[in-house]
Parts: sequence; structure tokens; C-alpha cells
Amino acid sequence: MATNCLFCNLRTFDYYQTLKLFENKHFFAIFDPHPVSPGHALIIPKKHSVSLLDLNKEQWNYLKPSISATIKIIERIDFKGLYIQMIDDKPTKKSSSFCKKMLLNPNINKKPEGYNIGNNEGKVAGRTIHHLHIQIIPRYKGDVKNPTGGIRTIIPELGDYKS
Ligand SMILES: [Zn+2]
Repeated sequence: MATNCLFCNLRTFDYYQTLKLFENKHFFAIFDPHPVSPGHALIIPKKHSVSLLDLNKEQWNYLKPSISATIKIIERIDFKGLYIQMIDDKPTKKSSSFCKKMLLNPNINKKPEGYNIGNNEGKVAGRTIHHLHIQIIPRYKGDVKNPTGGIRTIIPELGDYKS
């Protein structure tokens, strides 16, 4: 455990009870307090590791059921109740403004129709917390003008290779 690491300590904070989605032997999952879409979640290894490539075989074996469990919970949760609770708890300085945006999101009452699942592997790839966290980002029909290319669109001008 890295003592100054946010994700190593997260489960000891009071607000963890609000963000908590599930836990197993090697991973826990939380709802992101700065959601980009309703249900945005993170899957985090309990043991401090930075890279996806640092996971051992047993952790890898736990990752797939962790993803399945996370998606299953996302698909049956009441997002509205979740974000109202998060606004009350204020897990971070900026979480309330993100959660208020979610309450106005037209997809708040819908079940996700797809997901972007990924990891910012390295600072240059956008990682801001240096403890592995796999992003589960629910997607909804029409949530962006042109979803073609999905995560390819992190390089916007090259993302869409269809048109
Ligand atoms: Zn850590």
C-alpha cells in the first residue's frame, strides 16, 4: 500500500460507502465522482499497481468477473438517487457540479446501450491518479453527435475512419 495514494486509501473514507459499487478478493469498483455519463464507474485493484501490465495471473482472472459484475450493477442502479446522494456527500470539491450535470442528462433514466472500457496507460495517455483504474463508461444512443471510432476519437481528427 502506498500511503499517499488516493486509491490505496479510498476504502477508508466515509464517502466510499456512497461511491462503492462492489468488492471481491482483488478489486473494488466505485462510481466515478466526476462522471462523464450516467453510471460511469472505475474498477480498481486493491493492491497498489500502476500499470495494467503489473497485474498477476490471479488478478487477471478476477478482472473479467469484476467487469461483468460492475456492468450488471450499472444496469440496475437508480442513477438519479446515486447522484443526489453524491451531491449530499461531496466526495471531492468538483463532484457536485459533475453530478448536477448528470441529473440534467437526458439519459439519466435509461439503461446503457453500450460501453467504452479502457485504461489511461501512462501519464502521456491522460492518467492522473497513478494507481490502476479501469474506466467503464456507459454509452447511450445519441449521447454524442458522431460516436464512430469511439476511443479512437481521443485523437479527434483521426478518430472517424468511416467518413
Ligand atoms: Zn495505490
